[in-house]
Amino acid sequence: MIIDLRSDTVTRPTQGMLEAMMKAPVGDDVFGDDPTVNALEAKAAGMFGMEAALFCASGTMANQVAIKAHTQPGDEVICNELSHIYYYEGGGIAMNSGASVCLLPGDKGRITASQVRAHINPVEDVHRPLSRLVSVENTMNKGGGSIYDFKELIAIGKVCKENGLKYHLDGARLFNALVETNETPEDFGKLFDSISICLSKGLGAPVGSVLMGSKEFITKARRIRKVFGGGMRQAGFLAAAGIHALDNHVERLKDDHRRARQLAGILATLPFVDDIIPNESNLLFFNINPSFPAQEFLAKLRKNNILSMALSPQTVRFVTHLDFTDEMLATTEKVLRSL
Ligand SMILES: *Cc1c(COP(=O)(O)O)cnc(C)c1O
Repeated sequence: MIIDLRSDTVTRPTQGMLEAMMKAPVGDDVFGDDPTVNALEAKAAGMFGMEAALFCASGTMANQVAIKAHTQPGDEVICNELSHIYYYEGGGIAMNSGASVCLLPGDKGRITASQVRAHINPVEDVHRPLSRLVSVENTMNKGGGSIYDFKELIAIGKVCKENGLKYHLDGARLFNALVETNETPEDFGKLFDSISICLSKGLGAPVGSVLMGSKEFITKARRIRKVFGGGMRQAGFLAAAGIHALDNHVERLKDDHRRARQLAGILATLPFVDDIIPNESNLLFFNINPSFPAQEFLAKLRKNNILSMALSPQTVRFVTHLDFTDEMLATTEKVLRSL
């Protein structure tokens, strides 16, 4: 038995999900003929109270399509320096959109309204790129799965409105935030011009993300998705997994968070763990004592069939998910205590 704590993307479809996929009615989605893709898009848009949605092959594609739809070459995207759209999407902002970035520091990857306000370039200054888009991430991946205070997101939205900027949410793990807070998908739908959500992270689908926005925005995004090579044909088999995930795998994210907290509690008692970044969701970052390099720690876990990831020479990441059970947690505890 392999215990895989590298990422929440490693999950396999459950039996119920596979059955939903096998039964899905399909058609050619580029012609708009796939009833299951259409149902997923309508379902997601309905959940968030947004006008329309677009099924995308990945979270990267959903974000990059959104950035392309919101910007012109030379425009500036304001985001945190660790944001996925900048840090983990292969330079796509430059490559796909020819846009520049204004990178802000932040507390566990979160930016503030006053930072955004201070970094909007004056339109009349011909030296500066035109500020066009603000993008935030919730939960914040490289910030250790941190969750935004919704009031701050509202305040950033206000700054965007006042200055004619578009406002995008990379919500790859938005449901991880939603199960820990009092906000609803509709609250987020009202606030943002566009939202991307991942079906293949904690929600456990094999493939796919959904981008949401106004009808006009999604029409534009659909064209861009085709140009990016993301027009899929009988994609309903994959969309069916997404529908199943939204129906069955949202509330259970709380279990992943509980297991991450339990892992943090165990790590806190180990002599070779120096500190643990306080975790708010399913991502758990911790630092190992310099006398025990992370790569050595990873190798020892691997020998015991436990996979994890190092973020730096001393920082390790554990991610809990649908395929990490209480039994696996008990085994992991035993192995950790034996090191
Ligand atoms: C995983 C992730 C994405 C998208 O990743 P894909 O692997 O392209 O699906 C986007 N944003 C964040 C914050 C992520 O964690």
